[in-house]
Amino acid sequence: MGTKVILSFDVEHDCPPFAETRRGMEWGLPKVMSLLERKGIRGTFLFTGRMAEEFPELAERAAKRHELGCHGLEHERFDRLNTEETRRRLMEAMRILSDFGKVVSFRAPNFQFPDEYYPILREVGFLVDSTKAKHKGWKKGVTKIGEILEIPATTTSIVTRLPWVIQERFHKKFESPIVYIFHPWEFVRMPKHLRPDCWFGTGDGAFKKLEALIDYHLKGGAEFITLRDMVGDPNV
Ligand SMILES: [Zn+2]
Repeated sequence: MGTKVILSFDVEHDCPPFAETRRGMEWGLPKVMSLLERKGIRGTFLFTGRMAEEFPELAERAAKRHELGCHGLEHERFDRLNTEETRRRLMEAMRILSDFGKVVSFRAPNFQFPDEYYPILREVGFLVDSTKAKHKGWKKGVTKIGEILEIPATTTSIVTRLPWVIQERFHKKFESPIVYIFHPWEFVRMPKHLRPDCWFGTGDGAFKKLEALIDYHLKGGAEFITLRDMVGDPNV
């Protein structure tokens, strides 16, 4: 079996909650979508409901040519919300995103989603979650949490902004399915008054490294799939 690679993008405004701009949405995301399409591969674009409202043409493009998923309503911290508020916000996000196509995949902002809230995901219509993260200490691979298929994230987006010779070592060791995380704002130069992880390695360099990463896995015979593909049901 070849390696399976999932390129996932948390589609949000610029480095929340530290900035309020949308430069990544305006400049970064269209460029990234075009790159993937040129390479003949699909990504998983997990939009906040608000970004889908503000950039409907990008949400539509994700739904038609890639996978459109959900990253909350407005990049809220679900661990700070009660179940009622969590349900309300997820339903609202699902209502907005469903206008563009069927949505089954979710990742919570800041990797924060209490285990006892997973039944709400199923209730709202999600089948897949990718909030658990190996770089945050998650030890299991792909598993079920209640009725939700959990496909843990493999690595933080800081790794994919390191110099290529350094990050290449990581890619060789990652276990399939490899779930990478990117953000639209990484592909525009972010200002240095923000936290270092908001600006380190951002801009054209990040874009070139994404292309190098895609080429590396294409050369190695990897299969690029989406989170939804992992459900393994052709009707989903
Ligand atoms: Zn996020």
